[in-house]
Amino acid sequence: MIYKTDPSSIRSFLEDTSNLKNGYSPGVFFPETVTELSELLATSVSSNRRFTIAGNGTGTTGGRIPFGDYVISLQLFNRIGEPRQTDERSAVITVEAGVLLEDIQKKTEANGWLYPPDPTEKLCFIGSTIANNSSGARTFKYGPTRNFISRILVVLPEGDALDLSRGSCKADEKGLFRLNLPIAGEITFKRPQYSMPDTSKHNAGYFSTEEMDLIDLFIGSEGTLGVIVEADLRLIPLPGTVLSALVYFREPDELFRFVVLLKQSREVLNPRAIEFFDRNSLGFLAGKYPEVPENSAGAVFIELESTENKREEHLELLFELMESCGAMTDESWMALDREDQTKLREFRHSLPLLVNDWLSRQQESKISTDMAVPDAAFRELFDFYKSSCEQHGFIYIIFGHIGNAHVHLNILPRNHDEFLRAKALYRKFVEKALQLGGTLSAEHGIGKLKSEYLVEMYKESGIMEMVRIKKILDPALILNRGNLVPERYLATEQPVK
Ligand SMILES: Cc1cc2nc3c(=O)[nH]c(=O)nc-3n(C[C@H](O)[C@H](O)[C@H](O)COP(=O)(O)OP(=O)(O)OC[C@H]3O[C@@H](n4cnc5c(N)ncnc54)[C@H](O)[C@@H]3O)c2cc1C
Repeated sequence: MIYKTDPSSIRSFLEDTSNLKNGYSPGVFFPETVTELSELLATSVSSNRRFTIAGNGTGTTGGRIPFGDYVISLQLFNRIGEPRQTDERSAVITVEAGVLLEDIQKKTEANGWLYPPDPTEKLCFIGSTIANNSSGARTFKYGPTRNFISRILVVLPEGDALDLSRGSCKADEKGLFRLNLPIAGEITFKRPQYSMPDTSKHNAGYFSTEEMDLIDLFIGSEGTLGVIVEADLRLIPLPGTVLSALVYFREPDELFRFVVLLKQSREVLNPRAIEFFDRNSLGFLAGKYPEVPENSAGAVFIELESTENKREEHLELLFELMESCGAMTDESWMALDREDQTKLREFRHSLPLLVNDWLSRQQESKISTDMAVPDAAFRELFDFYKSSCEQHGFIYIIFGHIGNAHVHLNILPRNHDEFLRAKALYRKFVEKALQLGGTLSAEHGIGKLKSEYLVEMYKESGIMEMVRIKKILDPALILNRGNLVPERYLATEQPVK
């Protein structure tokens, strides 16, 4: 197995896109087979090693940054299978954890299939998107990654390779899972005893519902319970036609009304993405795209799937909806072919890049939120974000997945005083979102950056439920320490198998 220790080879493994600094590690392992990885983990106690798992470093929460632990890179688990049709409307593709999402999208689309999860950033490894239950714009129609994972092969911290197909191991009526493993032996444990918030997206802490599937405990567990090495992804037929549009509005209230009506149009238009840009986001984009209208209060990006037969009808309905809400129809951008859609996609992707560009000229990092709330509470959280930032005189943008009542607020501090004030305000935003029945993270996960806030969401009792699960599957606590659960909670009572 390749093992690297020289600083120039391992430097990139000490960072992701979170700006969390000072990571360090004695070295990085690059296993190539399940056997190599199992042995590495099975000997962790005798060799006195702990590990942090590395995907491709696009995560935003410091999850893959080691603080003294060895790193396991999934780079060499890079084999990708062929799509296999399972019935008229679906297929499956087997991929290893280190395959880039972009390569999966290209391969499946070339074969007439769609893998719906699309977390904006395409240079991430598929294994990480499963470990983080990533979502993105298309989640409005299709839900998160979890909905498209039909099997995983996961290597547990004691070295067992567990092949889990959806449906093969479910919690019984008492909530109990039963496993019989070659190394760890017989394990019986109860699903986490807490309930999850009533939001349409949620990615904070271990998943738990009645009669849940064990596969769902691993999906979204941020590498704290095992290393995902392979997965079967569920594919659906590639839609005949996609229609995209960027619709501008003069008045925020009209924009919000348009979003509500679009969400109610599931029976007819059934958009797959409904995304938001506030006036400040458009201001950033106008630097690169002079056609952005100056007098616009915000814009909504829509993507919907159609067919050649339905295309005209869908477009007509969309225009009617735009007109009824006072949209700036003449200035709006209708992208009806692939070329134009690629340009519109680049427009959307430019926002984080322009913001990062701006930030690179400052000394401070941005403060960004990932909270979502139940639909009915969205406007209250949105107005709270906006009025708080205005009161402080901050530079900020609000954008993202409004279809799921999940927008990102980025505060862009110009100096350290603003950074400290924005950080204090972040805590208030968390409190407000939780009061409204929301979640701390809808998609980016907790990692190391947000673990303290997870305590506010689940209280100590909920955190101790996660510790219980962690200690059952990782009794020596060797994997991804510091992610999800703050370290101090791991130091308590021993596991009960
Ligand atoms: C511009 C930009 C936009 C983004 N937009 C979105 C978005 O819309 N939606 C969204 O959900 N995310 C988004 N992200 C976040 C990010 O792309 C995802 O979290 C992605 O899943 C990270 O993949 P990675 O390979 O880079 O993982 P890394 O950053 O390397 O690792 C992420 C975490 O996963 C763990 N991990 C990695 N591989 C495995 C494995 N095989 N088994 C177990 N644990 C593992 C790591 O330990 C770490 O905790 C965005 C990021 C960027 C930079």
